[in-house]
Amino acid sequence: MPSSSVIARLPLRWRLVLGTGLMLLPLLVLGGGMLYVLSHLVSGFDQVIINSLQKMAPVSRLQISIQGVWEPLHGHLLHGVPLDAEQLRMRCREIQTSLAGLSEQMPQSSEQSTRYRQLQQTWADFENACTLAQAGGEAALPDSARVNELAARLEGDIHTMLETLAAIYRDSQEDIHLERNRFARIERGSLGFLAASLLAGMAISLATALFLARTIIGPVEILKAGVRQLASGNLSHRLESEERAKAKDEVGNLIFLVNDMAAKLEKNQQELKELSIRDPLTGLYNHREFFRLLGEEVERARRYGHPLSMLILDLDHFKRINDTYGHPIGDNALRTVAMRIREHLRHVDMAARYGGEEFSLLLPETTIVEAYDVAERLRQAIAAQPVTLFEEQAIFLTTSIGAATFPWYADSGDSLVAETDRALYQAKQAGRDRVCWPGSPSLPSADVLATPPD
Ligand code: GH3
Ligand code: MG
Ligand code: MG
Repeated sequence: MPSSSVIARLPLRWRLVLGTGLMLLPLLVLGGGMLYVLSHLVSGFDQVIINSLQKMAPVSRLQISIQGVWEPLHGHLLHGVPLDAEQLRMRCREIQTSLAGLSEQMPQSSEQSTRYRQLQQTWADFENACTLAQAGGEAALPDSARVNELAARLEGDIHTMLETLAAIYRDSQEDIHLERNRFARIERGSLGFLAASLLAGMAISLATALFLARTIIGPVEILKAGVRQLASGNLSHRLESEERAKAKDEVGNLIFLVNDMAAKLEKNQQELKELSIRDPLTGLYNHREFFRLLGEEVERARRYGHPLSMLILDLDHFKRINDTYGHPIGDNALRTVAMRIREHLRHVDMAARYGGEEFSLLLPETTIVEAYDVAERLRQAIAAQPVTLFEEQAIFLTTSIGAATFPWYADSGDSLVAETDRALYQAKQAGRDRVCWPGSPSLPSADVLATPPD
């Protein structure tokens, strides 16, 4: 699927952001939907108010019509103003129709309906009074007491009717007001709930994203930094967050596996390094490592003004052993000699297999006099202990040793090797099984050794 491959190419961080955004999407749609519904609810309510106001219009018209009937009647009764009987009847019919229509609109049980019924009753009384007033006509006018009574009664009826209408109007207004307040409360509550839900949803999404980022991206970053360290060759590096490595989740397992792999790689690397610097037959340093150590030790000796002695041991007539007993027996003898050498060394000294049956030693902070002592003890130890060849057969080996010291006899690693080699040659020439040094057989005095050459 192309879209999934595009997502897979995004960094983990962006995939999380995208995922959280998608998680928020339904929430936003829901919120938008609720807002839409609410706004329609409120606009629907506005329509209810408009309808109510429209319903109030006939009430206002009724008020005007009643006023329109009352005024000519009042004028007629009190001041003898002639009546337009046809117009009055028409107005009365209008009022009747309005009243009937309004009372029908009201539910039977409502207070307003009761008021309308009252109004109808008062209107009926009023009409009677009107009929009486009209029936009295001109003849009734001189009887001012009767006229006054009728006028008062009509006025009372009209007032009652107008008050009733005003009460109906007030009731309706109050209902509308109460309804409006109720809707406003619902609207406020709904908006608050919606806002709280949206905020809570966003907070939960954010917290989820942060939690995922902390528990996934954090360890992945540790993994990345750690693997980068390992790839740069620092195999002793271990990934942080041992806590996570102990956790049984996937990233924890991965961290554990990478640490385990690094430990094994480091061990292999160390073994390889050991193999690359050791002579496989004797376990001593090999020729190449010897020269590397020589360079280092000469530098150190030069820096601190310390002496550095070197010995080269060459087994005497070793060829004979090979020729007589065979190469494997010769190898055994070489191993035994290497063991003896190791036994005589301090932990700061270094021993290497220089060549076939030649061994070289570096003795830091050792003067030629001390080097001679070491060489002599070594020579004696090799000569004194027989080397077992077979189960019962053993032979005695001797060795010739050359010794030289930096900086008295040499001013560099190469010249130290050359001087030591020359001393060894001297030992061979002098009859073998001995130690020689430049200037042997006499050893330099202590005061000469106390002042290193320039
Ligand atoms: P010298 O040094 O006293 O003059 O006599 P040598 O017989 O020791 O003479 P040389 O140094 O010429 O011979 C060294 C011999 O060491 C030759 C070879 O047979 C033997 N050799 C060299 N490397 C090995 C090895 O790895 N194993 C065995 N068994 N023998 C070796
Ligand atoms: Mg040799
Ligand atoms: Mg030899």
